[in-house]
Amino acid sequence: MTRGEQGVLVIYTGGTIGSLPEDPLDPLSPLVPKNLDEVMSRLPNYDAGNKRITLAGGWVRLRTHSWDTPVDSSNMTFADWQRLATLIEANYDSYEGFVVLHGTDTLAYTASALAFMLDNLCKPVVLTGSQRPIAETRSDAVQNFVTAIEIAAAKTLGGVVVPEVCVFFRDHLLRGCRTTKLSASAYGAFASPNYPYFGQAGEHIRILETLLRPGSDRPLRVRGDLDPNIASLDIFPGMSTALLRNILKTRDLKGLVLQAFGIGNAPTTPDFLDAIASAVEDGKVILDITQCRSGEVELGLYEVSAGLLARGVISGLDLTSEAALTKLAFVLGQDPDTSRAADMLQINLKGEQSKSIFNIHFSGANITGESTRSVTLDQTAAIVEGDRYDPAKLQRALLRIMGIVTSDGKKGALDLRAFLDFPEATAETAVDTPHFLGESRKDYDPESGPENVFFEIDEAARQFISGSSTHNLTVVSLAGPLWMAKANIALVTSAT
Ligand code: ASP
Repeated sequence: MTRGEQGVLVIYTGGTIGSLPEDPLDPLSPLVPKNLDEVMSRLPNYDAGNKRITLAGGWVRLRTHSWDTPVDSSNMTFADWQRLATLIEANYDSYEGFVVLHGTDTLAYTASALAFMLDNLCKPVVLTGSQRPIAETRSDAVQNFVTAIEIAAAKTLGGVVVPEVCVFFRDHLLRGCRTTKLSASAYGAFASPNYPYFGQAGEHIRILETLLRPGSDRPLRVRGDLDPNIASLDIFPGMSTALLRNILKTRDLKGLVLQAFGIGNAPTTPDFLDAIASAVEDGKVILDITQCRSGEVELGLYEVSAGLLARGVISGLDLTSEAALTKLAFVLGQDPDTSRAADMLQINLKGEQSKSIFNIHFSGANITGESTRSVTLDQTAAIVEGDRYDPAKLQRALLRIMGIVTSDGKKGALDLRAFLDFPEATAETAVDTPHFLGESRKDYDPESGPENVFFEIDEAARQFISGSSTHNLTVVSLAGPLWMAKANIALVTSAT
């Protein structure tokens, strides 16, 4: 194959980039998406006969594929994301890269969904669009479209190949599953609030290779199953809990993205927390993200989020709302078991979050003296492409013992000690062993509900948890019989 021969497949779905006023005689009539030929005819240096474009670095073969009926991206559906993924798969070996022309309104959702669905990617899939139609004189479309082609054709043009689903807009190249639409009208409409831009297009296109995920040498695989039984709720001060309950009662609902305040906080009223707790008990997954534009959820750091954590809400860390929603649909589509899905959601799959949380779960137990539970770290992500637990990347380890009450349900002391991989531990065991995780002395008052105890256990985790062995948690009660609903060890690692 000679230079320029492999080329790029341009997939046109619709959006402003290809839209024109509905009534050609009335420039103020609503914009409607036109056919792809009209878009291609505006592309400078495009030779429609030979189907190639001449760029500064040489010519690139272009083939096109259009949705039969191009749509405004507000009408994109899960089926459209699946169609895009299978189209890329069907043409994967014939092209060096793909450009998807898409409306800007839901472009960040499509980019996130594609990132999750395309496993083992080693070629660029670049999404772009424009704020003004390509046919307009002062449009941003040509710059976006041509630069996206250059990025997708990096192999032919001798540039850096980006083996990711990405978004090019105005002058920035962003990771697809980190992208969010920030402005309804600015030409720089997209941002990647929690991950650096990995490319800049000015006079030259510069790609920061160190920020890219490595391309895979395995065959591309589409994981197309998405579960549509999800919802997203932006909470607000004074929100009625009836609204939350009604959403959670939606027939067949399996998961909810809870867009919470600040670092993941929400009301602590018993009514709100009860609604959450009964949904989790019912097997629903609740993924907590921040409604702030940037930053990260840290469940359990403040009292106002410890209650959510104790009730089984999981942390969406620094996911964008677009990535959170599509990841929820994707993960539930891969594994309908909601407790496994909850674990998988906390693991970085495609660079969409900066950390992974691996959970080791110990189920509830009566603690009449001492009680031991043994489990193995469930490498849930093994069923999809994603991080595996790597002790060298451990940042923080937490033991969380939740729902602790006295076993007679009356006021009393909750004095307990926890040990890791030390089933012989008793009340007499010396606490100067590296297996000792911590001691808590609390008073239980039925009025204020079950207690939770969190210990930082970084050192013990570093020493004893490898990712494949079986682990024991031994909880010794010093004051009298106790009941704990559940306990887990959360291993927080940096994402790859
Ligand atoms: N409504 C358009 C769309 O998303 C907006 C755009 O493309 O900029 O399809």
